[in-house]
Amino acid sequence: MNKPLILIVEDDSSVKNLITTTLKAHDYRYLTAPNGKTAILEASSHNPDIVLLDLGLPDMDGVEVIQKIRTWSNMPIIVISARSEDSDKIDALDAGADDYLTKPFSVEELLARLRVTQRRLMMQNDSASEASSFANGDLRIDYAAGCVYIGKEELHLTPIEYKLLCLLSQNIGKVLTHTFITQNIWGSSWDNDIASLRVFMATLRKKIEKEPNAPQYIQTHIGVGYRMLKVE
Ligand code: CA
Repeated sequence: MNKPLILIVEDDSSVKNLITTTLKAHDYRYLTAPNGKTAILEASSHNPDIVLLDLGLPDMDGVEVIQKIRTWSNMPIIVISARSEDSDKIDALDAGADDYLTKPFSVEELLARLRVTQRRLMMQNDSASEASSFANGDLRIDYAAGCVYIGKEELHLTPIEYKLLCLLSQNIGKVLTHTFITQNIWGSSWDNDIASLRVFMATLRKKIEKEPNAPQYIQTHIGVGYRMLKVE
């Protein structure tokens, strides 16, 4: 199988060089774009497998680039931001980004994010043929029957816990923001909903995680949201 084609959107040449050197060394194919306009053009003409997108671009906000790409494609977008403020990441994730990296990041971190995204793409392709159930480590969801198992043991989840688990499993590998989750579950995202989400997440974790304080299935992104991880 061909190595994935990565589109790198970055105006800072030192960061761009770090990424291209890393991708070259690991046998990825890549394209580069120094601004948002070129990025949108390259994304539409080359249909890359993954986009690495800097949020602070000279001609437009990275969030705008995500919104444009999302009008025609679900290609995975990993946001790269020098800004550590949560609100930028959240805006990008709500606009449809899949994951984020905060500058400065290590080569290992970059490669790990790319692997997570590639695994998610593979799982999505697999599950397209068998969408009636889901398996991840010991966790199994029978969507058709509405049952959840850990190993052989059936779990008793409340309707909201079940909805929450299904949403996370259907977006495995992707960081889901508090807003996205509460909109999906309650149809609103007031502060109250986000507080409820924390409570339901805690009760859900008690049921599915061996050690709720060191969760293996659901990762917390403080101030941002949650992500289901692929368990080996
Ligand atoms: Ca920049």
